[in-house]
Amino acid sequence: MIVIMKPDVDPSGPEIKQLLNFISQFPDIKTRLSGVRGTQRVVTEVYLIGPTHHVPKEPIEKMPGVEKVVRVSSKYRQIGKHGGQLDDIGFTYNGVEFSQNSFNCFMGPCAVDTPDNVETMFRNMQRVGIKTARMGAYKPRTSPYDFQGHGKTCLPWVFELAGKYEIKVIAMEVLKEIHIEEIDKALEEAGNPTGVMIQIGTRNAQNFELLKAAGSQTRFPVLYKRGMALPLEDSLNACEYIASEGNRNIVFCLRGVQTRLGNPHRNLVDFAHVPVVKRLTRLPVCIDPTHSVGSKERAPDGILDILHAASQGIIAGANMILVEFHPRPEMALCDGPQALTMQELDHFVADMELVRQCYIKRKELAQQALFKQMHLE
Ligand code: PEP
Ligand code: MN
Repeated sequence: MIVIMKPDVDPSGPEIKQLLNFISQFPDIKTRLSGVRGTQRVVTEVYLIGPTHHVPKEPIEKMPGVEKVVRVSSKYRQIGKHGGQLDDIGFTYNGVEFSQNSFNCFMGPCAVDTPDNVETMFRNMQRVGIKTARMGAYKPRTSPYDFQGHGKTCLPWVFELAGKYEIKVIAMEVLKEIHIEEIDKALEEAGNPTGVMIQIGTRNAQNFELLKAAGSQTRFPVLYKRGMALPLEDSLNACEYIASEGNRNIVFCLRGVQTRLGNPHRNLVDFAHVPVVKRLTRLPVCIDPTHSVGSKERAPDGILDILHAASQGIIAGANMILVEFHPRPEMALCDGPQALTMQELDHFVADMELVRQCYIKRKELAQQALFKQMHLE
């Protein structure tokens, strides 16, 4: 059971005390307070853990400061919408909003290589007004002989350059807990010129110790990438691991699933799951068309397959896009052939903006149709 308090109820105030006092008559029920800093408001939620079927809902609903009492299903306890009983709440990190209504474009190289390339990327992003980047410092590679990323040595100059070009958030994959600590330390030492969103890659989608490590800190939000061969349910349960440790600032990323049926694309695009994840969970949803498609093939209409896939996700309501760019793809140490170039940046941004506007209009159209239906019934 979750008790949702009215906006801005003080977690240490009299309303919470009265509620906890009432619950104390049920000795087998444990309580846990969770403060959710949404994009519009701060909400305190009180989780009742244990056999709550004998805890009556009505007296709690009547208590001062209580907005809503929700009986939760056992699935997705923390991240779920529980059949539409809970809304998405979102979060703001370093001035950037992440919710089921927002849209952010994270772009940059698969792997950080040279300061010159990173600076060219950031300079061009500033030119087109984009403040969110992707930068791989720790790279999980299929072959042990491939470039594994510069690791912590590149962090000081990447963060400094990000600050110079007003980049607010960098999505950065981590492979183990110590990488989170290294990022934290490097950011502190650089004077926090930017922010980082910890990325859990598809290869670690069920690395439960890493999920718990990302969940037990709240300094960084987490970008979780769906397991390439996992049912959606298993990946959502992985996010539940992160949330159950205390970190609710999670974005769920669809990045295609591995099957021969996806050929000639690298993976089979799974962006039809954008509305599914938005319905089942409170999480903002990201799409990664680069790793889904994995090549720069162009359709006869002149549009790259990557842009077609990106549009499919955005027109379905994606809240974030992760896309690989490189100023000199022929020099890239990882995933060069699938990277978009600086010459393709303006077209990409204009195309994404067009599709996002189309999604907003589709949403309005659907709301008008629903309103009409309700008034005809
Ligand atoms: C990435 O985004 O850099 C990456 C490695 O993606 P994935 O984990 O989805 O393969
Ligand atoms: Mn890549």
